[in-house]
Amino acid sequence: MQKKAAFTTTVPVEVILASGYIPLDLNNIFVSAENPSAFVEKAEFSGFAGSSCAWIKGLYSVLASPEFNKDFGVFIAVTEGDCSNAKVLEQIVAMETGIRTFIFNFPYLREIDKMRSEIERFAEFMGTDYKTCAKVWEDLKNLRKKLKIIDETSYLYPGSVTGEENHLFLVSSSDFCGDPAEYEKKADDFIKELEHRKHFADPSRKKIAYLGVPPIVPIHSFLESRHATVIFNEIQREFAMLGESESIEEQYINYTYPYSAAFRFEKAIAEIEKRRPDGIIHYVQSFCHRQLEDIILRQLLKNHGLNIPLLTLEFDKPANKIDARVATRIEAFLETI
Ligand code: SF4
Repeated sequence: MQKKAAFTTTVPVEVILASGYIPLDLNNIFVSAENPSAFVEKAEFSGFAGSSCAWIKGLYSVLASPEFNKDFGVFIAVTEGDCSNAKVLEQIVAMETGIRTFIFNFPYLREIDKMRSEIERFAEFMGTDYKTCAKVWEDLKNLRKKLKIIDETSYLYPGSVTGEENHLFLVSSSDFCGDPAEYEKKADDFIKELEHRKHFADPSRKKIAYLGVPPIVPIHSFLESRHATVIFNEIQREFAMLGESESIEEQYINYTYPYSAAFRFEKAIAEIEKRRPDGIIHYVQSFCHRQLEDIILRQLLKNHGLNIPLLTLEFDKPANKIDARVATRIEAFLETI
């Protein structure tokens, strides 16, 4: 049976595919589960603090569940460039489950040679080599171009692609739902459907730029129900690697998520200037260091002379609907834009 390579956040998926493993982004399993709160509770029962991030608890519970981990051949934790919690998570998982683990580090200084070395180190661990990974990277170019069409349609024809549809296509590209060929067919079918949908675009919808990590609650569908559409999914778009690059290592050096908030937001602001949303929602996760980045975002928007209304929303635990208090805040925000 083909084994899975499970990971905590986006890693060079080309390496996993080149090695013959099935890529599996643990975040997608956790957040799309029927009852993600049960994963959080399970982790707390195992000793995780109530005041630690729900995502890390969700990932731990997926990794610790025999229902999921029975076919995990390797667990990849990203420490440099993502979350310090992942350092300890890797140790707990190795100790409790015996799954083979690997730590991937995005080079701290965005140096292309160091990125190449890290990809080579990862490839060697996975039993493949750089050349095979580069071939997979070439093969994925077409699929990434199709994801770009979906993403661009979301702002060129507002409402033809819902914010949630775009979010799901982009966020799932960290592992292509385990099968890039199937995923590409799904993208092809969707692009065909968009040819019809474009005629029904609705420019009267309020256009929202969504910045921050993917949400743990259904913000996108809530906005749709209030006649607003997300036309820019910042981090999800980063996961999909839609920019052009000359090599696999360049692609990952241009990926903003592991790097400084200023680097990340400058790229996001360039998209905001192009897509011209009516408002910005900045999602932050409770107990996450990225909350502080809100200060940098607000300053950079000011430096660029962008006076677009901005609402920062903080969420703690997963839920299948937006609670009344937050719903009122979002509705009030939408009335102001
Ligand atoms: S949301 Fe923040 S604290 Fe939670 S896993 Fe992601 S980076 Fe870590």
